[in-house]
Amino acid sequence: MALLVMKFGGTSVADLERIRNAAVKVKREVARGHRVIVIVSAMSGETNKLVGLVGDAASGAEAEAPGFYDAREYDAVVASGELVTSGLMAIVLQEMGIQARSWQGWQVPVNTTSAHGAARIESIPRENLDRKFGEGMEVAVIAGFQGVAPDGRVTTLGRGGSDTTAVAFAAALEAERCDIYTDVDGIYTTDPRITAKARKLDKIAFEEMLELASLGAKVLQTRSVELAMRNKVRLQVLSSFSDEPGTLVCDEDEIMETNVVTGIACSRDEAKLTLISVADRPGVAAAIFGPLAEAGVIVDMIVQNISEEGRTDMTFSCPVGDVAKAERALEAAKARGEFNYRELDKDTDVAKVSIVGVGMRSHAGVAQKMFKNLADDGVNIKVITTSEIKVSVLVDRKYMELTVQSLHDAFELDRAP
Ligand code: ADP
Ligand code: ASP
Ligand code: MG
Repeated sequence: MALLVMKFGGTSVADLERIRNAAVKVKREVARGHRVIVIVSAMSGETNKLVGLVGDAASGAEAEAPGFYDAREYDAVVASGELVTSGLMAIVLQEMGIQARSWQGWQVPVNTTSAHGAARIESIPRENLDRKFGEGMEVAVIAGFQGVAPDGRVTTLGRGGSDTTAVAFAAALEAERCDIYTDVDGIYTTDPRITAKARKLDKIAFEEMLELASLGAKVLQTRSVELAMRNKVRLQVLSSFSDEPGTLVCDEDEIMETNVVTGIACSRDEAKLTLISVADRPGVAAAIFGPLAEAGVIVDMIVQNISEEGRTDMTFSCPVGDVAKAERALEAAKARGEFNYRELDKDTDVAKVSIVGVGMRSHAGVAQKMFKNLADDGVNIKVITTSEIKVSVLVDRKYMELTVQSLHDAFELDRAP
């Protein structure tokens, strides 16, 4: 019997009415002869609320940053949102005459590393689920976003992690498809909240989606795309509020035609830090970025500029939420005499805008066109990075939306290839 994974995000399970609406879609698949694994998120807003409570309880702690307090207890609290929705979904399905049962992460089990707050799934043994399916269970409703560490404690997978739960189940149980139901009816050329001209894509290549996700398009968690790509999971994003066809994430060679630029992503809460006048000598980058890595600062873009004879300025970007951590780590390393700098310049009002497309590999002038467009809009570029299939720029946060809209027009993303 073919098995299907259906994941419902926060807005799709925001209240009982929506849970019933989602359950109707599940019932339809059961009627088609599928066994179904349903993955649920917490009700929308719930995880934010729980994260806030943890921050309030640990006085002075930064709510978004486990590490300032006992991360095991952060997970104990934050994982609870999904327990509620999984139980409610199972009840609603039972009311519809379906043999459904809820499962918490440890019951499956979803085995993860012990990196609380950002755990990685290591294995999902299928025996328990298979046995229950054998005994007549039609639908397993799994609490997304959570797992169990080797020591038996509950873990969470990082924000947006129930996408990854879904793909991991699809891979472990060799599902026919992994359907991600959300509040948009597919993957668009850019976040449809930023421009009404955003166009829904029928298909997108794994690599492009991986870039878009890691550059800020939160429609799928990055790790879920990585897992799907590696395990060849057929991944689809579609709406839980309509029956429109969604977007298939697939291999590049399944896509006939694409624009040079497939999509635009942006990330609002970025910061730029510059260490002014550090010694220009071998080992200085290692000396700076070592302590940052140890402090858990997620460093993104890096630029080094020669400022004066024998000195250099080192600029890097990181999430705004990591700035305090970065500052502390740099100052401590400086105090230990590991390196020196004259000043630490902070710019916490920047955002990152990125264009992505596999077509860039074979087209020249794409970056130039992007830069020219920003110049025409009078938007200053603060940092640039590129890879084979993307160009990213850091700009003042107040220009983020404008930049996305303008680039969307310039690359004519509203037109199908
Ligand atoms: P869920 O709660 O279902 O996981 P998310 O809020 O995590 O939903 O993701 C869906 C949201 O992602 C959409 O509402 C949309 O605003 C945003 N988004 C960002 N970039 C894109 C894109 N390129 N295509 C579609 N949605 C996008
Ligand atoms: N509820 C979790 C979050 O808000 C996981 C998810 O929705 O994917 O991050
Ligand atoms: Mg999500």
